[in-house]
Amino acid sequence: MATLDESTLDTMNNLTDKPALDDPTPNMLNGDDTIDVDYDAPERASGPYVPQVYPGVYPFLFALEDDTPFEVREYDTKKGEHIREFTVNHKATISITDAAGPKEVTIRFNRAGFHQWTDKNGNKLNSQGGELLRSLNIKLPPRTPQAQVKQALQESDSRVMGRGVVNWEAYCKACKEDNRLDATWSGIVSTKPRTKKGDARWPKEHGRYVTEVKCPKCGAELNGRERITDYRLPQE
Ligand SMILES: [Zn+2]
Repeated sequence: MATLDESTLDTMNNLTDKPALDDPTPNMLNGDDTIDVDYDAPERASGPYVPQVYPGVYPFLFALEDDTPFEVREYDTKKGEHIREFTVNHKATISITDAAGPKEVTIRFNRAGFHQWTDKNGNKLNSQGGELLRSLNIKLPPRTPQAQVKQALQESDSRVMGRGVVNWEAYCKACKEDNRLDATWSGIVSTKPRTKKGDARWPKEHGRYVTEVKCPKCGAELNGRERITDYRLPQE
């Protein structure tokens, strides 16, 4: 299962927390060092990032992340198993139509690992990475070396469409910092229909997910984010 780990969530939160800096170049070119302040100007729009792609299944254009498209992640499972997992980090660009017309939204920081987990009956499950390859219609022989998987993904970069399940996820940094996370509260709010133990369900209003979400534990305003959480077979 690809899940949000804390470092990714921190990166995402940092990205959304930082105010966008205006391009300073035009002012510098002026050669003018006076400062103007418009005290009547409306306050800049602020507030949490609002997800734009409603949860569901969408075709997406696959692209590798610019920084660290491939990595080997090492972590321990709750059962104490040490995992070294070859992982691809990718973007997914989805076309949607909203009130303003058609537009493209790029979902960042999607992660698909190639570790094969086994189910309760000991059957090997397809890895998330395997599911991604299948979704991108990349056909490789069994037991393909990592370098070849990498190459196939590089050849598909910004060229091949896949299909993915979009969910919204938000993480409460305040709860983490104040040590409110435990087995019953992971700090994660998710639209996934089957949330993991400790995750909270994303709230709905009139049958639709609300776009702005608050932490169910401490009430902090959270930044929701789209994530590709599963992959689907390409449509014929
Ligand atoms: Zn909280």
